[in-house]
Amino acid sequence: MRVLVTGGAGYIGSVVAARLIADGHEVVVVDDLSTGHADAVPPGAVFHEMSVAALDPVLGDWDIEAVVHFAAKSLVGESTTLPSAYWRNNVVGTIALLDSMRAHGVGRIVFSSSAATYGQQGDEPIREDAPARPSSPYGATKLAIDLALTDYARAYGLAATSLRYFNVAGAFETSDAGFYGERHDTETHLIPNALAAVAGSGGSLKLFGTDYPTPDGTCVRDYIHVIDLADAHVRALSAGEPGEHHVVNLGSGSGSSVREVLDAVERVTGTPVPVEEGPRRAGDPPVLVASNQKAADLLGWHPVLDLTTMVDDAWRFRNDRAGEPAEDGSDDLS
Ligand code: UDP
Repeated sequence: MRVLVTGGAGYIGSVVAARLIADGHEVVVVDDLSTGHADAVPPGAVFHEMSVAALDPVLGDWDIEAVVHFAAKSLVGESTTLPSAYWRNNVVGTIALLDSMRAHGVGRIVFSSSAATYGQQGDEPIREDAPARPSSPYGATKLAIDLALTDYARAYGLAATSLRYFNVAGAFETSDAGFYGERHDTETHLIPNALAAVAGSGGSLKLFGTDYPTPDGTCVRDYIHVIDLADAHVRALSAGEPGEHHVVNLGSGSGSSVREVLDAVERVTGTPVPVEEGPRRAGDPPVLVASNQKAADLLGWHPVLDLTTMVDDAWRFRNDRAGEPAEDGSDDLS
């Protein structure tokens, strides 16, 4: 299959592009490099540096059969202060992409949605039919796109799947085409921040809140390995019929607290994480755990890689890059 991967220079997009190439698919990556890295695009992909909003004049030239759409702004905190950028980039950009797909007869899309569409819920694990209550503009833009996909599928015969990710971690090492992992310039996620703290390049790990109504007082999240996540995308590319839009959670179905994650980091690295306990971070719900029954039923998907493997792969990826100069010329990987 010839697949267009938008945002294929980012963390999850590059892993999925690499996996598709490893499976023998032809991959075209578009990415505007606003947050991605050109050297993260797998060598086997055709790469075009451009925005999804500008695709229309060239989409017809590529003979694309399906789109996997990652390109988006994705910082929850930033979205609360810059909602215009999030609505324009994520929603307006995606509508432009969908209309280009219609114009060029591309009938299948797998969309990178998010657990941020759910917001605070009372019942865990969260099923896909839970009421959507996004607590940030970022989550609201992902929900808006999910709603648009339902309408486009029904009216225009699109085959669409929205994959709602919970907490993605880990890295993907191919036998011959490189190592793909998380390297955000502004890192907000727990596992890379904890690894940076262990490596001595990020100061202490700031632990956001120890007074949550959870067994050890820290937030509980559902962590999922990016390799398992990529496998779900491959499956979603052949699931669902024209006219159908499926919304599917991707999570492990069980939660780990922040302290349990820090214990895993200590086990893997052999070094205790230097921690500075602080107040809660705005917008963090106490517990977010996915029901993954629908992914099993619809995609035949079952995550297999555990938290220790995620941390181990993220640590190996970090160390693999440690010798490389950063793009700003420094060696700081924090
Ligand atoms: N967290 C933390 N310190 C950090 C980053 C995250 O204590 O430097 C906590 C955060 O408050 C949340 C959990 O770790 O409870 C997971 O946060 P992350 O940003 O990795 O993912 P999110 O659940 O926000 O998507």
